[in-house]
Amino acid sequence: MSYQVDDKGYYGRFGGAFVPEMLHPNVEELKANYLKIMESPEFRKEFDQLLKDYVGRPTPLYKAERLSEKYGAKIYLKREDLCHTGAHKVNNTIGQILVAKALGKKKIIAETGAGQHGVATATVCALMGMPCIVYMGEIDMARQKPNVERMRILGAEVRPATSGSKTLKDATNEALRHWIQDPDGTHYIIGSVVGPHPYPDMVAKFQSVISEEIKKQLLEKEGTENPDYVIACVGGGSNAAGAFYHYLDEKDVQLVAVEAAGHGVDSGETAATTALGSFGVLHGNRTLVMQTEDGQVVEPYSISAGLDYPGIGPMHAHLFESGRGVFLNATDTEAMEAGVQLSKMEGIIPAVESSHALAALDKMDLKPSDVVVINLSGRGDKDLETYIKWGKY
Ligand SMILES: *Cc1c(COP(=O)(O)O)cnc(C)c1O
Repeated sequence: MSYQVDDKGYYGRFGGAFVPEMLHPNVEELKANYLKIMESPEFRKEFDQLLKDYVGRPTPLYKAERLSEKYGAKIYLKREDLCHTGAHKVNNTIGQILVAKALGKKKIIAETGAGQHGVATATVCALMGMPCIVYMGEIDMARQKPNVERMRILGAEVRPATSGSKTLKDATNEALRHWIQDPDGTHYIIGSVVGPHPYPDMVAKFQSVISEEIKKQLLEKEGTENPDYVIACVGGGSNAAGAFYHYLDEKDVQLVAVEAAGHGVDSGETAATTALGSFGVLHGNRTLVMQTEDGQVVEPYSISAGLDYPGIGPMHAHLFESGRGVFLNATDTEAMEAGVQLSKMEGIIPAVESSHALAALDKMDLKPSDVVVINLSGRGDKDLETYIKWGKY
């Protein structure tokens, strides 16, 4: 049994493409072409070159000596925080804008909640000289002012979504509406391993450069490609999908996904989807969703805006249900403490999202021979306000 997507776009019973009739042609066009484009020599050449010269890849695999000593295991950090723009998201937006160009699209749309994906999209649109419209809930725009301004500096138009709860869900609806109206000229860049097939697979493949590099780097440092554990935080799941990708079918590697518990799994203010979610459709795919008994999506909460998502990508839903992945969660407090600890012990201030992955170390039973890779998905510059409000450092 493989944990990769099947040829119908499913991971076990999760995935598929559940979109309005009007969007079928768009999704079909992408499905019919994405693999062909991604495997073409021209695409490979341009993608690899940009990852190297623009993003700064390969990112280092750093042995955190002081952290290793504290936890009694060999702990490595995969430094996605050193990517241009400060996180892994740009690996995907570069890939997708190249796909858009190959499909002859002239304009890019995206939706964003916290603004991180919007910034990564605006960045590559500037790079390619393509017009960029980012939909963002009106409330999120007020909460994430610096990212709104970053997008504008980069030349993107940020359009407020003013309906419903004025957050991510409404921004997604607006983006889909735009796509329906201009299917020929527009490509919709989705920011995680979510959305209708082929998005989850396409995004996972763009992010898979993370585990491709880990294998090479670990072979050099430890004499083996396979660690005992790979740990990553999960919002939609793209950084985790990238860190797990080349290990999915290697059973000796434990895949550990960490969700945001917010104020606690049972507090009503949480984003721990696998702990609370049930089978449903979200963002065009069948997956696990935090929802009420009559199917209303429950508003998620986490101190980290990037993990504040009421679902999980279909690959991860399958890893959870099949038992291939171990799913943990960390509260706001546990994550903030882990973030401050990394800052003081290694001189690296992590993104609050990534701090959730670091918090898993306290929940695991490690032995001295264990090799652990933690995907440090992003840096903490964007979270300075959150650290200051937290105050305990
Ligand atoms: C957006 C983001 C995440 C969460 O997204 P995934 O798709 O789950 O990876 C995690 N870390 C950082 C730094 C982010 O910006």
